[in-house]
Amino acid sequence: MSSFLKIAIRNLLKGPSTDPYPFGETFVPKGLRGKVKYNAKACVACRMCEHVCAGGAIQIREVADKSGLEFILWHNTCAFCGLCEHYCPTKAIRLTEDYHTVHRQEDKYRYVEKGFIKYVNCARCATPMVPIPLELLNVAYDQVNEDIEKLRHLCPKCRQERAL
Ligand code: SF4
Ligand code: SF4
Repeated sequence: MSSFLKIAIRNLLKGPSTDPYPFGETFVPKGLRGKVKYNAKACVACRMCEHVCAGGAIQIREVADKSGLEFILWHNTCAFCGLCEHYCPTKAIRLTEDYHTVHRQEDKYRYVEKGFIKYVNCARCATPMVPIPLELLNVAYDQVNEDIEKLRHLCPKCRQERAL
């Protein structure tokens, strides 16, 4: 029997050596930078992610009725560089291990990650403001006590006056 036939028979008996992807799942390498996930509840709207985004994939803008801020990320433009996650102070934005990025061309503008931050009113002067997430206090203070917790509900101006 020729060596070619031997190899062919051996491979036929052994079965495929590769993963069945895309007809089945495959393994996810550790540290894979996949689709980006955004958590509006932890976001402080600092816009750092928008600023550092290598692909210009992120936009944060006030909605027409001025009730809050809309976050939008175009996965088609994302370079999966991870800079947004790295610089986000509260880890409100992070890259997941989800590698399923295949989509139809006609869906490219719908292939987005969206979020909405609804303004709340300052507890002292009622000025609309971005709510301050607990995640930020945890980054800024070793221990979040009752006094610090109260600051969450004040706008920057009232916080400044209270501190003075
Ligand atoms: S991973 Fe990079 S390119 Fe993608 S949204 Fe974040 S900063 Fe932008
Ligand atoms: S996701 Fe993070 S970096 Fe982007 S605006 Fe929110 S807090 Fe800032």
